[in-house]
Amino acid sequence: MGREPVAIKTIVIGAGAAGLCCAGFLARAGMPALVLERGPRPARKVLVTGKGRCNVTNNCTPDVFLKNVRTNSRFLYSASSAFSPEDTIRLFESLGVPLKTERGNRVFPVSDRAGDIADALIRFAGKDCIRMGARVSQILAEDGAVRGVRLENGGTCMADAVVLATGGMSYPGTGSTGDGYRLAERLGHTVVSPRAALVPIEASEKWCAELMGLSLKNVTLTLKNAAGKAVFSEMGEMLFTHFGVSGPLVLSASSYIKEDPGAYRIEIDLKPALNMQQLDARLLRDFAENRNRDFINALDRLLPRKLIPVAVRLSGVAPEKKVHSITQAERRAFAALLKALPVTPKAFAPIEQAVITSGGISAREINPKSMESKLIRGLYPIGEVVDVDAFTGGFNLQIAFSTAFLAAAAIAAADNG
Ligand SMILES: Cc1cc2nc3c(=O)[nH]c(=O)nc-3n(C[C@H](O)[C@H](O)[C@H](O)COP(=O)(O)OP(=O)(O)OC[C@H]3O[C@@H](n4cnc5c(N)ncnc54)[C@H](O)[C@@H]3O)c2cc1C
Repeated sequence: MGREPVAIKTIVIGAGAAGLCCAGFLARAGMPALVLERGPRPARKVLVTGKGRCNVTNNCTPDVFLKNVRTNSRFLYSASSAFSPEDTIRLFESLGVPLKTERGNRVFPVSDRAGDIADALIRFAGKDCIRMGARVSQILAEDGAVRGVRLENGGTCMADAVVLATGGMSYPGTGSTGDGYRLAERLGHTVVSPRAALVPIEASEKWCAELMGLSLKNVTLTLKNAAGKAVFSEMGEMLFTHFGVSGPLVLSASSYIKEDPGAYRIEIDLKPALNMQQLDARLLRDFAENRNRDFINALDRLLPRKLIPVAVRLSGVAPEKKVHSITQAERRAFAALLKALPVTPKAFAPIEQAVITSGGISAREINPKSMESKLIRGLYPIGEVVDVDAFTGGFNLQIAFSTAFLAAAAIAAADNG
């Protein structure tokens, strides 16, 4: 693209999940779009989704999908009816990617390769429609309607419709650095201030750093609010890091923290399969077999090695105390500790480490039936740049696909109208 203005019907800004999908639907409608991508490759974020396996959607009804949307769920009513999770499954299978459904109705490619989803999206959009290294610096508008875009290199490109699919601010290495917010604000849109969501949690406890790298499977994590009420409790996997805690359970729990993280408390049940009585009986058995050993040397069968010194320290029982002299009260207190290992949230990890950006272009300023801006005709913000976000489980990519479908349908209808 040179400095001479080029006229195109539709420009899609951003070759992520939403932008590529929208371009694909437009191509199907016989209206190929031009996709402008600032990075060197399309679909970079898709490649890191689902730990490289891409949890592409959730095999659920539109109703259940909406229940899993945390912010502005009702806004997505039309989008999710127009293009449901079932439609996403059909789309990818039609694009030659067989899918499978796992625990929690999470849908993945049978190959377990996010690259297969990324490649399918690129094929769907049409590789030749995507320009790399094309960073949009301004959306041009006149008399309340879009006219085109200006690129960072100074070139301009005219268009009747502009789809804004620049994503949020998390994982900026994949290209989403918040450009979309600035582009929309310049046109008068309100941006609800971006915040980290589905994010690791920094903890007050220094001992988390000692456990760095330790991953716990089949534990139950409970998040309690300031009033001591459990607002989240699930069994699964988590991880200790140098600053606190991370992993799937922690990311999910972070979505339930609505105020100062310091007001909440996390309890990790290390033995969810045993109730207190059963755990005490188990400790009694283990202690009977290790009567003459030091306490710290009697826990190998109960806890991961790295966790033992920390658990012993937190119990307050001297590590070298002989097991036979541990009192019943000490043993019961230790069992209680294993059922509710306390972690105190201090802050969220930086937004760069978040899976999702909450906040974004105000949903109130977008028509929920078409994704068209209510302020600027022909502008269609879709995907994560909009103030919508969901829990884990494939729902966030579904937001990208449903909103992409709606925008493409509206653009096609406007063209035929
Ligand atoms: C580690 C991780 C794991 C995840 N796993 C899952 C999962 O398994 N399932 C799920 O549902 N969701 C998952 N998500 C969330 C999901 O990836 C996002 O919600 C989704 O990719 C958002 O799509 P998008 O197209 O709106 O934005 P993005 O995918 O971020 O795409 C935006 C694109 O716009 C480009 N761009 C930005 N600014 C400009 C500009 N000025 N000019 C031109 N191009 C620009 C960017 O380079 C980028 O390519 C995960 C996210 C992360 C970070």
